[in-house]
Amino acid sequence: MTPDHSAAPSPTHLRRAAFLDRDGVINIDHGYVWRIADFQFVPGVVTAAAELAQAGYALVVVTNQAGIGRGMYGEDDFDRLTAWMIEQFAQGGVPIAGVYHCPHHPTLAQGDFRRACSCRKPAPGMLLDAARDLDIRLSDSVMFGDKCDDMRAAQAAGVGLRVYLGKDGHAAPADACDAAGAGLRFASLAAAVSDPGLRAQLRLAPSPPDLASAHKAVLPPGA
Ligand SMILES: [Zn+2]
Repeated sequence: MTPDHSAAPSPTHLRRAAFLDRDGVINIDHGYVWRIADFQFVPGVVTAAAELAQAGYALVVVTNQAGIGRGMYGEDDFDRLTAWMIEQFAQGGVPIAGVYHCPHHPTLAQGDFRRACSCRKPAPGMLLDAARDLDIRLSDSVMFGDKCDDMRAAQAAGVGLRVYLGKDGHAAPADACDAAGAGLRFASLAAAVSDPGLRAQLRLAPSPPDLASAHKAVLPPGA
């Protein structure tokens, strides 16, 4: 990931990204997680993300954080947790290219945070911002999310592949998200990345690693 300062990015510089929702995909969704002590990685997610990174995907987190707008925690709390999360990924060999969050809510937030914004999923704003900031080719990218709104945001942004995951690594989502073209469903990022068919679509090496064992390993907070 060497920045090119010599010229404006041309299409040949564009890279593909793996967009990850946070709560329910990266960490167990306990509801408005803002403390490090409450941040529990979904089993296998770091190992799976490492595979995507090794295959050349820029890893980008896109997360609705209306808890900020609702006054449950502050931007500084979110930033502190994000820095810690990035460090945990780094220790697993995973560079995080960017983290985008939406603090707004159209009805429940306070003050300036209460508005209909272009960043809260299912709007595509965060993905479009990331594509511009990080030189991402959206059509060659993939979104992993546990809500249909993740799939809708990705579809609206033009993300080529949308993978619908079960919340917190549980069973694959039962509800249809057909309108957003989320035909691919897995229990977790680890399960998705270990699937031979999806590996082919993502152009990962054909032989899946031993994610079954990684799936059992939970990174404790602070590990
Ligand atoms: Zn927003």
